[in-house]
Amino acid sequence: MFAYEYFWSMRTLLSLALAVLWLSLSNAEARLVIAANGKARVVLYTQKGASPAEFRAAKELQASLKLLTGAEFTLLETASAPPKGSILIGPGPAAQACFPDIALDRFGDEEFIMLVRGGRLLLAGGKPRGTLYAVSRFLQTQAQIRWWSPWASTIPKRPDFAIRSISIHEKPVFESRDTFWFSAFDGPWAMRHFANGQSARLTEELGGAIRYKGFVHTFNYLVPPEKYFATHPEWYSLINGQRTCTNAQLCLSNPQLRDFAVEQVKAWLKESPDARILSVSQNDCHGFCTCPECKAIDDAEGSHAGTMLQFVNYVAAKIAPEFPRVAIDTLAYQYTRKAPKTMRPLPNVIVRLCSIECNFALPLSDPSNASFAQDIKDWARICPRLYVWDYTTDFSHYIQPHPNYFSLGPNVRFFATNSVRGLFEQGAYQSTGGEMAELKAWVLAQLMFNPKQDDRKLIREFLEGYYGVPAAKPIAEYLELMAQAARGYNLHCFSGLDAPFLKWPTLCEAEKLWQRAEEAAKNNPEYLWRVKFSHLPVRYVWLNRWTALREECEKAKGTWPLPASRKSVASEWLAVATGPGPAGWSKVTHLNESGLTPETFIARFAQDPGK
Ligand SMILES: [Zn+2]
Repeated sequence: MFAYEYFWSMRTLLSLALAVLWLSLSNAEARLVIAANGKARVVLYTQKGASPAEFRAAKELQASLKLLTGAEFTLLETASAPPKGSILIGPGPAAQACFPDIALDRFGDEEFIMLVRGGRLLLAGGKPRGTLYAVSRFLQTQAQIRWWSPWASTIPKRPDFAIRSISIHEKPVFESRDTFWFSAFDGPWAMRHFANGQSARLTEELGGAIRYKGFVHTFNYLVPPEKYFATHPEWYSLINGQRTCTNAQLCLSNPQLRDFAVEQVKAWLKESPDARILSVSQNDCHGFCTCPECKAIDDAEGSHAGTMLQFVNYVAAKIAPEFPRVAIDTLAYQYTRKAPKTMRPLPNVIVRLCSIECNFALPLSDPSNASFAQDIKDWARICPRLYVWDYTTDFSHYIQPHPNYFSLGPNVRFFATNSVRGLFEQGAYQSTGGEMAELKAWVLAQLMFNPKQDDRKLIREFLEGYYGVPAAKPIAEYLELMAQAARGYNLHCFSGLDAPFLKWPTLCEAEKLWQRAEEAAKNNPEYLWRVKFSHLPVRYVWLNRWTALREECEKAKGTWPLPASRKSVASEWLAVATGPGPAGWSKVTHLNESGLTPETFIARFAQDPGK
């Protein structure tokens, strides 16, 4: 009996010991020490035949690992399997020799893998951008590096840096991703945040971009009225019984015009062999054609998208044999926003639906945006390549508070669930200085890569990383305050100075929160500059509404939260807006889309108002 029990307990112990040994062996296999005590423990390898983007990815990894660990990493080129203790960057013969089961040559252009096996880390993807994305994703998820803006990053110090087993195979959720905010145009920042829109300065070594020919509103460029209206008035809209080219579109049912447009499009494509998308889209006005032929189509389709789509499909079908890799893009914008009843976009047609009329204080799924939600569902049903042009700023006052912070995440998710494949997020694109611009750009870029991320968590992470933990709290309260104050208001992208969330006592509370944030950041000059710069939007409202707010303050028997002199507040404001600032930052030049400069704005406040 005793011997039997002893035998069994020894057997259990032995198998337990074997299991532990196996686990530690497999962990040793799966774990990779990258640096120890500030010394490199791996060698980096590019592959023979690496593209400029893949070579850049390797350099990016080498430089970032040095900042992270303090170690110098050797970067070599190889054509055969390197020994254990290596990081292979990019696809190629060495990667294939080490990981023969991974068909890297079949990866899509933005698809990538991060894999630790056999003492080696593979960071590789399809051409042109996959490998860059593998490295960026690795640095963000494994090293916790953050690039908040071109002038602000968080790079932890990790002289001992090891990674556990990882096996991640990903690609961005949207096929086209354009964070159209000024700071997001910085090439390295855009590459690190998976942008592929042409507005960012994405050179070939940064992975390049999806090139458009004629980005938007192209009718007048395709068929210039100054050249053709005199001889072909019938190509232009019939409005109130007159052919016109003023605030007008084209007569899209005209067969001769359609063939002319096909020839123009072909000529444009020959001029721009890089272009993958060509825009055939309405001018930025109304003025659709009301001739009997156009009207009959639009009436039958229940939308002016009827004539538009018939025209665009015609062009797309004609160019397809000669330009099989090019798509024709058009807008579903203002008068064409509603989907047609029976017409269907061809597979090489992209429809860009525009959210310009929406209320951005609340998500697009809110009942206040029901008509847009219906339109997106209708388009999603018929359009295999649906893109969205979304609006994330206030064009009348880029710098004025625009409390859409908590709609950004739900909206990007809303687009993803409605089968949207491309996203253009238009923000304050002409200079720095848009309200919470860096936060909005970073959160949008993160969500365009993966819309399932928790946007509230991303916002908190940004606030703590960019402004420092102590200042993050009052700034988070500011975001809540403004978002609450904007509830019930239709927050479109052209708010005035009299928006209800810009009145006493909201402004007073907002001002105090920014003052608290400045106080909290006062011992860290980097954080303090960022807080002061982000405080400008609230001060912009104070300056604009000084006298009215004074009266509101007196009526409320409140305490004035600012210095008494408007002139001194104004000159302090200008000093922050126009520099000096950190490396990578550029001074504010545009306070709105029409080009109001900080200097012109501040000149209004050269004198203090009389009592
Ligand atoms: Zn017509």
